[in-house]
Amino acid sequence: MRSLQSEIEQRGRQIFELVDNHPESLFSKAGFYQRLMALSMRDERLKLQLFRFVDVLPSLGSSGEIVEHLQEYFADANGSQKVSELLRAGVRLARIVPWISGPVLRWNVSEMARQFIAGRNPNDVMRTLRKRRAQKIGFTVDLLGEAVVSETETDEYAARYLDLLESLAHETKDWTDPLGKNSELFPVVNLSVKISALYSQINPADPADAIAHLAPKLRPLLRRARELGAFINFDMESYAHKNTTLELFKTIFAEEEFRDWPHAGIVTQAYLRDSEADLRNLIEWGRARGTRFAVRLVKGAYWDYETSKSRQNGWDCPVYLQKPASDANFETLTRLLLENESIVTSAFGSHNVRSIAHAQAFAEELGIDRSRFEFQLLYGMAGPIKRALVEMGYRVREYCPVGELLPGMSYLVRRLLENTSNEGFLRAKFSENVSVEDLLRDPCEILRRNRNGVPPPSNATKNMTTTTSGTHPDASYENAPLTNFALPENQEKMRAALREQRKQFGCKVPLTINGEKIWTDNMFSSVNPSEPDQIVGYAAEAGIPEAERAVAVARAAFEKWRRTSFEQRCQLLERVAEILDRRRFELCALEVFEVGKPWAQADGDIAEAIDFCTFYARQMRRMGRPRLTQNVPGEESYQHYWPRGVALVIAPWNFPMAILCGMVSAALVTGNTVIMKPSEQSVIIGAMLMEIYEEAGVPPGVLNFLNGKGSVIGAHMVDHKDVDLIAFTGSREVGLWIWETAGKTREGQRELKRVICEMGGKNAMIVDSDADLDEAIVDSIYSAFGFQGQKCSALSRLIVLEENYNRVIERLLGAAGSVRVGNPEEPSVVVGPVIDEAAYRRILDYLEIGKSEATLAYQAKDVPQHGYFIPPTIFTGVTPDMRIAREEIFGPVLSVIKVRDLDEAIDVANGTDYALTGGFFSRSPANIERIKAQLEAGNVYINRPCTGAIVGRHPFGGFKMSGGGTKAGGEDYLLNFLIPRVVTENVARHGMAPEKTPEYRDEFLWPKK
Ligand SMILES: Cc1cc2nc3c(=O)[nH]c(=O)nc-3n(C[C@H](O)[C@H](O)[C@H](O)COP(=O)(O)OP(=O)(O)OC[C@H]3O[C@@H](n4cnc5c(N)ncnc54)[C@H](O)[C@@H]3O)c2cc1C
Repeated sequence: MRSLQSEIEQRGRQIFELVDNHPESLFSKAGFYQRLMALSMRDERLKLQLFRFVDVLPSLGSSGEIVEHLQEYFADANGSQKVSELLRAGVRLARIVPWISGPVLRWNVSEMARQFIAGRNPNDVMRTLRKRRAQKIGFTVDLLGEAVVSETETDEYAARYLDLLESLAHETKDWTDPLGKNSELFPVVNLSVKISALYSQINPADPADAIAHLAPKLRPLLRRARELGAFINFDMESYAHKNTTLELFKTIFAEEEFRDWPHAGIVTQAYLRDSEADLRNLIEWGRARGTRFAVRLVKGAYWDYETSKSRQNGWDCPVYLQKPASDANFETLTRLLLENESIVTSAFGSHNVRSIAHAQAFAEELGIDRSRFEFQLLYGMAGPIKRALVEMGYRVREYCPVGELLPGMSYLVRRLLENTSNEGFLRAKFSENVSVEDLLRDPCEILRRNRNGVPPPSNATKNMTTTTSGTHPDASYENAPLTNFALPENQEKMRAALREQRKQFGCKVPLTINGEKIWTDNMFSSVNPSEPDQIVGYAAEAGIPEAERAVAVARAAFEKWRRTSFEQRCQLLERVAEILDRRRFELCALEVFEVGKPWAQADGDIAEAIDFCTFYARQMRRMGRPRLTQNVPGEESYQHYWPRGVALVIAPWNFPMAILCGMVSAALVTGNTVIMKPSEQSVIIGAMLMEIYEEAGVPPGVLNFLNGKGSVIGAHMVDHKDVDLIAFTGSREVGLWIWETAGKTREGQRELKRVICEMGGKNAMIVDSDADLDEAIVDSIYSAFGFQGQKCSALSRLIVLEENYNRVIERLLGAAGSVRVGNPEEPSVVVGPVIDEAAYRRILDYLEIGKSEATLAYQAKDVPQHGYFIPPTIFTGVTPDMRIAREEIFGPVLSVIKVRDLDEAIDVANGTDYALTGGFFSRSPANIERIKAQLEAGNVYINRPCTGAIVGRHPFGGFKMSGGGTKAGGEDYLLNFLIPRVVTENVARHGMAPEKTPEYRDEFLWPKK
């Protein structure tokens, strides 16, 4: 008996021989596509530009626009000499005859897309399916249109699916099984469904909500499929949707109506590390259900996305990082599937001859007939392999996407990426002529070889910045990872924390002055804005006497604290970061209750607080040691920093932990003593930070916690002669008052007061005429309505070029209508309550102003009546002079302004008192460059939301009336808390000087330790 490996090799060779009998290029169409592929494989940068150009092309209206984009993308193509010449010639030609080159290019790209898209509509696709039928190849049809942004769009998609099903069933009613055997397992009509196209608000943290919305949309389709004898497959998408897809599958097919229906299938992605556990679980579920079901095994189509997404968020990467590991796992899962053939029907979705031959050989070993499983391959790819498999008597089905070019673009780009990937089988076989031996090698053996010497690819799990040229000193800084709420264990931890936190309602927190806990006669209550009759906690309220005491003890503690080594101060911050991390879920839950933050937003706030601690500790270590200014013989000149003195930190409630912790940590690590005054609305969170600092070992008096009214104690301390520094984040009105007041010097004052002042914004995003609306709409909604529009970075003016104004408005209003409003204890809620009654009333007033000035285009209807819920609202017909376009509203209210062109858009965006964040959606490289140069904002975001700054990556802060130009989370932020000092010593004696002067020396500390 031959070994499995030799059986695989024998079958693999047979497939290759059959493939070689019908020589055909890798891709069934030559010409433009072949050339594009060849260019892409030669040069990575060029590939990026080419694919970006292909991505934008279908959305361009005129020949002129096409040619402009062509020039912008390729005018400075820097690939190999030959490539550049070719492209430059193309660009020159396009410039001369745009009316020819525009349509020609569009035609070529359409043709290329048509290579992967089997038809525009149900009628169109039938031509393809009939041809395949003649070749004994079956089909599964997929409807393109993945990026739905609203429930209107998902309803349309569901209706199109039903249509497609009817039409396919009708057209194929007399078709028979190509193998004529075991045909009951393989209905002719086979549909592939993507769940993300059926519900626009899937939140990975809340599978139950997604299932509750998806199941009613799917049932009519499944019912009809069953009546018509068709098969339905659930495709698998990104990892974030995996658990929801699996749960949905198991829930719906366990229902009475579908329990005994065998024609349901789901996909398993072998590149996922947890795929084996999932598949075992699925098989167990199937056995308990007692009816056969199907699994399509694939490697997975989102490898690049998953690796970069997990890197960005600092998550463990869910996919294997070495290609042979995915291949080996594919084989493990193949065996698992075939060993359970009695309950599960297998479809092997691969173009890799080794993977295919392994499945064949193992099935043979188990004695499973060829007609009881199938191979599935993509339309437009690997034609010779399909033919070979048919000739060998196997069951072959083709995956046929149907739809228009525009919604099909992301599918097309995925295919292009896959076909040009360095790791891909098709490229290796058909483009690089790798030997048959190598192509058929056992992936486990390759892995073993890698382990014994050949280095694996760089670790994609680390959240590290990589740069192409030169390494920045902070390049290796790692942000705290966000909590991945797609993981069930994190969902459970959060729910448990919410339950626990409820039990703490009504807790009491004291002031802390010089380490003493002080209770006053006045207790301040902090309420849950979702349910204002719930009191989250009570806090002792300070008056002027307590403020005086706090300033005095901070002053007294300063002398010692300033002489504490910066290393000790850095370690204090790092201990705080550790405690914040340990108590993360508890703190998140508190934020949900005290300020109404949705889960992910609360988690982002705690992560940011952790980042501030670790980042500032790192910066202080960089700046702490005196540094030589210039190297000259005979003289040593060292610059170093002294702290300023007593810092008053006044923080807002909207980032109740991050901003408070950021300002406090910056002040402390630089050697200042601190009086922290949290916002009255988030005082319990402020008290938690005090508790955490104490647990971390902050000495008495160095950090003091003073809760009280800004207008009373805040005003008193800002004006105090013994306060040297004020770090403030909050409203423009208070900020300007502090700026002015701090400018007056009081009797006995030692220092000129330094003010670090972050205020509001009236942030704008511009939607260009070629913008990718799938992204622009989702990101605009998130930026405007996330956390109820109460971020200083939130979007409040959407500026849209008139060319695609109608399309933007239609999709924007649909998307707004689909956003979930409610109590943020529920994980899928996007818009919760605003902070308090005063804010609620103020925003309601603005809604009235908006109605009188502009057109109310959208307002949510079903918002909870109890609690401070403002319906997300969109005004159109807004002009730049209107109050709703000029004044900061700080709520879920979006004004849309229509403009003629980009010139006007920039004028409108910049025509405000503020300059905090700004954004731009465009696929024109020239326009993007222009915005980078001209948009007046401290943080400019291109093709992404304008909120969500990350410490170190996006130093945050604005100018004009948004702030004094400081950047929280940036490498020069700490300088604001310090006074620079230079110490110069003549070290020459009679002309004799040391040969070398060290660049750094020890801190100037006296008395020395
Ligand atoms: C009929 C059919 C249906 C499909 N349905 C789905 C679906 O529902 N969901 C889905 O996600 N995909 C789906 N796919 C896409 C499929 O995942 C890709 O086409 C497939 O991954 C290509 O694999 P291959 O075996 O043909 O080629 P190979 O070249 O052998 O494998 C390429 C694959 O290896 C993996 N890979 C690449 N680089 C690395 C690396 N460095 N480390 C680890 N792994 C790596 C990736 O998954 C990549 O796609 C389907 C494919 C087919 C044929």
